[in-house]
Amino acid sequence: MADTLVCVKTDTRKVEMQKLPLATPGPGQALVKMRLSTICGSDIHIVDELPVPPGTPMGHEAVAEVVDAGEGVTSFKQGDRVVASCLFGCGHCARCQEGNLQVCETYAAPFNLLFGCQGEYYMVQNAELNMAKIPDELDDEGALFATDIMSTGFAAIENAGLRFGDSVAVFAQGPVGLCVTAAARARGAGLIVTVESIPSRVAISKKLGADRVVEPARAVDEILALTGGKGVDVAVEALGHQATLEGAMRVTRWGGTVSSVGVYGAFPAVSIPTDGTFLHRRLVTTLCPSGQDRLRRMMDLARYNRVDLRPLFTHQMKLGQTPAGYDLFRQRKDGVVKIALRP
Ligand SMILES: [Zn+2]
Ligand SMILES: [Zn+2]
Repeated sequence: MADTLVCVKTDTRKVEMQKLPLATPGPGQALVKMRLSTICGSDIHIVDELPVPPGTPMGHEAVAEVVDAGEGVTSFKQGDRVVASCLFGCGHCARCQEGNLQVCETYAAPFNLLFGCQGEYYMVQNAELNMAKIPDELDDEGALFATDIMSTGFAAIENAGLRFGDSVAVFAQGPVGLCVTAAARARGAGLIVTVESIPSRVAISKKLGADRVVEPARAVDEILALTGGKGVDVAVEALGHQATLEGAMRVTRWGGTVSSVGVYGAFPAVSIPTDGTFLHRRLVTTLCPSGQDRLRRMMDLARYNRVDLRPLFTHQMKLGQTPAGYDLFRQRKDGVVKIALRP
């Protein structure tokens, strides 16, 4: 049996590279070799805040190559370039049957999260359902975000029911918020205002579609002024903090939609303003839509040049430097948005 060098959670706020044994793929599984991986905000939640046990192999966003496949995996062959959704489904439960693999009842979140993508090799469950081939025209960088943050950010806009010409405000331009901005443009929004103060993120936000980027402290006043005091049709919360949720609620017009996509894991509760700014509004929440068809549609947006999320990669590192990447990402140093990790 071979082994894989992978980034492992060893304690709260601690990761290191370790050699772990590699299993042989069982029925439905595919063993894949990582080509490009990255660190996600959720990885920081898992390592710093969540009761995920030490010894857990980290990473759930990667592009890979098929090495071996178990019984029943017939659509893929050795050497195929693939992506797998970060959340996987069984394909049989009620939620999977309605197309919501991300909340599969059999595997039950958060245990349906893919683990080990920050490693030389990892295993994909139910590959026929949860994995997709990458079109030849699309490079690794163009495909990677379909696995998680692109699908999440785009769903924040889809679930808001954005119409052509609708005005949009996006609170926070981290990796997911930037995907929301790109989604708003791709979906045909009118005015797009984003809220961010970190210069590198402001620059990428403008590149991906923001007409105006406003400072967090002045966001509510400026967004209301830009919309004649009425508020935007859709406001997205993409950070998971009280201030951004409240801001999104305060700038949404009567009858508009607040779309919350941030993970509020660092707080026991968040509250809704009771001064009337959240009467007659709609609140929707989103968890990364998953599965082969979702991956295909996300990749086709990049393949046919509707969206280019590659500017999100601000840093390049070798797989062995992943623990240093966690420090960089956690402290938002050096203008980091996404780190490309390669074997
Ligand atoms: Zn993630
Ligand atoms: Zn299921």
